[in-house]
Amino acid sequence: MSESQIDKEPTFRESVDLMVDRAMAAIGIDEGTAKAIKSCNAILKVQFPVKIRGKTEIFTGWRAVHSTHRLPAKGGIRYAPYANQDEVEALAALMTYKCAIVDVPFGGSKGALQIDPSQYERDEMEMITRRFTLELTRKGFLSPATNVPAPDVGTGQREMAWMADTYKHLHPDDINYVACVTGKPVHHGGIQGRVEATGRGVQYALQEFFRHPDDVQAANMNGSLEGKRIVIQGLGNVGYHAAKFLSEEDGAIIIAVIERDGALLNNKGIDIEDLYQHMVQHRTIKNFPGAKLQEDGHKALELECDILIPAALESQITLRNAERIKAKLIAEAANGPVTYGADDILNKRGIVIMPDAYVNAGGVTVSYFEWIRNISHIRLGRMQRRHDELRGIQMTAMLEEVTGTKVPEHLRASISRGANELDLVRSGLDDTMRLAYQEIRNTLREEEKVYDLRTAAYVTSIRKIARSYLDIGVY
Ligand code: NAD
Repeated sequence: MSESQIDKEPTFRESVDLMVDRAMAAIGIDEGTAKAIKSCNAILKVQFPVKIRGKTEIFTGWRAVHSTHRLPAKGGIRYAPYANQDEVEALAALMTYKCAIVDVPFGGSKGALQIDPSQYERDEMEMITRRFTLELTRKGFLSPATNVPAPDVGTGQREMAWMADTYKHLHPDDINYVACVTGKPVHHGGIQGRVEATGRGVQYALQEFFRHPDDVQAANMNGSLEGKRIVIQGLGNVGYHAAKFLSEEDGAIIIAVIERDGALLNNKGIDIEDLYQHMVQHRTIKNFPGAKLQEDGHKALELECDILIPAALESQITLRNAERIKAKLIAEAANGPVTYGADDILNKRGIVIMPDAYVNAGGVTVSYFEWIRNISHIRLGRMQRRHDELRGIQMTAMLEEVTGTKVPEHLRASISRGANELDLVRSGLDDTMRLAYQEIRNTLREEEKVYDLRTAAYVTSIRKIARSYLDIGVY
């Protein structure tokens, strides 16, 4: 492949569109419906001044609404110096498809602010975030009913709490004000399990994949997740939780972690919690005693391994390195880590790709649970927990009476325990990830012109969205 071909790779948004086109062509969607599904409904660009350390700085932000066939439109807000409109539109489109894949009844949206958060103090970030929220709210791009942001790269619970509070001051009469963003701290209307939800979803997606021996064999592997060698890129919110759960709970071995400042390698496995604590303390992966440092981190994407999990940012596997990727399975925890051209090469080489719109849908799924909790104004499980407990106690008492033997203490404890909010969130997320994968693999098996999981995921999603456009018509 020539340098000029490599340099002309489609942008992130074009890549998403091409992948969607491929799925639409496979099932022969009519042109009008295709156009209605693909077009971005609205895009807001704001520029606003904030006085920082005595100087006025101008910040640029966007919020794209890709679809409103379901409301509210949902999607994260990203704080990054490289943020741009093309990226925001691509990410908003991905949200539309993602919500449909996991049956979350939301439209797709995404936002970004062009900023390097590491350059600002906490109070400055608060001022900037509140001002950005003001712009989004006043222009109709933030409300519990129509557009609900969540955290993404560079944002977290803290930013969501500031946004919710700003919205509350602007709309004190909105009884559902707390549902205007998700991913809030638990004591400010958030839900248990949201912080780790995307990483947890990655784990549940891989667990479900490994429940299907045919699929595992198609990826040239066998057995379970136990002992599988994983390379992960990005140890942020998504990557840290995914790597931690997969290694601590499923027995997978994390042989490499790729970060901004290099890659850490250890064939025997890296202790993720130790590394994370090291990163929190030193703000770098360098000098971590439990692994060897490789300066050129990007190169470690090409390591021989069972599973590669890109969990950092888009366009990491491109025409430049796709031929050298040696993983058997790629689980796209980040959004858009594989470009359209690279996707084609990897498919031809028999490398199985679990697509982003499915793999990282855990975040929006638990955001949906949080939003429901907020608009119903009650913690999940509050009404039935003690009732379930009582039922469990009665069941064990009945068993003992009928059999004349004592139920062992550990069984008694688990039978008579009512589910708390975290149990319900995990159960709902696990169920969602399992069902969505089963739907995708069924599509792959049943559709004659669908040959990979990504196209299958888009086909299931496009069908659902098309049905909703056909049911309600275009207005
Ligand atoms: P984050 O900011 O918490 O973490 C990103 C990590 O990647 C950081 O540790 C950063 O140092 C690292 N990184 C940045 N550039 C890198 C590079 N060039 N090479 C290696 N590492 C690099 O972000 P996050 O929330 O974990 O999001 C990661 C990805 O997952 C993004 O694509 C995001 O859109 C996607 N995603 C996030 C969520 C969520 O709930 N946070 C949900 C769905 C999808």
